[in-house]
Amino acid sequence: MQKAIGVLTSGGDAPGMNAAVRAVARAAIVRGYKVYGIQRGYNGLLNGEVEELCERDVSGVIQRGGTVLYTARCKEFTTPEGVKKGAEKCRELGIEGLVVIGGDGSFRGARDLCGEGIRCIGLPGTIDNDISCTEYTIGYDTAMNTAVEMIDKLRDTAQSHDRCSVVEVMGRHAGWIALNVGLAVGAIGILVPEIPYDLGKLSAKIKKSQANRKQHFIVVVAEGAVATANTSSSEDIAKKLMELSGIETRATILGHVQRGGAPTLRDRVIASEMGYYAVELLNAGASNRVVGLKNGKVYDIDINEGLAMKKPFDEKLYRAADEISF
Ligand code: ADP
Repeated sequence: MQKAIGVLTSGGDAPGMNAAVRAVARAAIVRGYKVYGIQRGYNGLLNGEVEELCERDVSGVIQRGGTVLYTARCKEFTTPEGVKKGAEKCRELGIEGLVVIGGDGSFRGARDLCGEGIRCIGLPGTIDNDISCTEYTIGYDTAMNTAVEMIDKLRDTAQSHDRCSVVEVMGRHAGWIALNVGLAVGAIGILVPEIPYDLGKLSAKIKKSQANRKQHFIVVVAEGAVATANTSSSEDIAKKLMELSGIETRATILGHVQRGGAPTLRDRVIASEMGYYAVELLNAGASNRVVGLKNGKVYDIDINEGLAMKKPFDEKLYRAADEISF
């Protein structure tokens, strides 16, 4: 039987996943492997939604957002029986190595599958950049650029009406998108889950700037920051800021638009580099590794070690952003 490599995307989708799938498929094909595209994450593995990917099957996808392999969450795979069944399916297909593109949850699944004898390599695919063992995750750059483009549009209308615009961006557990996007749009306030904030202080900052001829304001809120100041929603934050500052304030939730769209150059390049690297690892006999970026270079680390790491928030950049917006 020809040796085979499988590839799947799992958890939330992210622009650039297709570039990674393409790189995995092509790098494996040139090394003599048969490649299987497994659809809808671990579900496809368990349900047999598996198709061979030939070189032309990954043509015309590098520039497309989303994932051509589809993605899903799979409850069954979180059980030992589910993982055993997944390993059996791999063996039936002759899959000796699997590339899993997703987040920490997907890597846990990959680790469990390694425990059943299937060699797995994880690639970080999530817009939130919330994977500790890597400086960068596939999709992050595209999501941030989409958010910046949207907020630039909101700024035009906030400016025309002398308003304050509260904009919620993605990041349930991490404020990376909010921090960078907030800095890039010159937000007067950036609310992230990692750093406590006080709406009273923010409104005082807004009023002080208004007294100094600033007429419109952007406040960027990470999804996960909403709960940290006893607020229930971004609308609630806008309402409270309006009460405190007296400035007309509107809330906008950017939502899922941030997950879509053509991947940026950075996402295409890094996804391709990581996909290629994953195949090199499998080809060299490696297993249970996550591919990441460290000091700007692609590297790999044991999945368990990677999962145990903590990524410190960039408080210095946060302070700089705060200090220069007034
Ligand atoms: P992400 O990979 O983006 O973190 P999830 O946490 O939803 O997304 O995980 C994606 C899938 O990975 C889950 O639906 C499940 O099939 C699998 N998974 C998650 N956690 C575990 C776990 N602890 N053990 C085995 N598989 C897991």
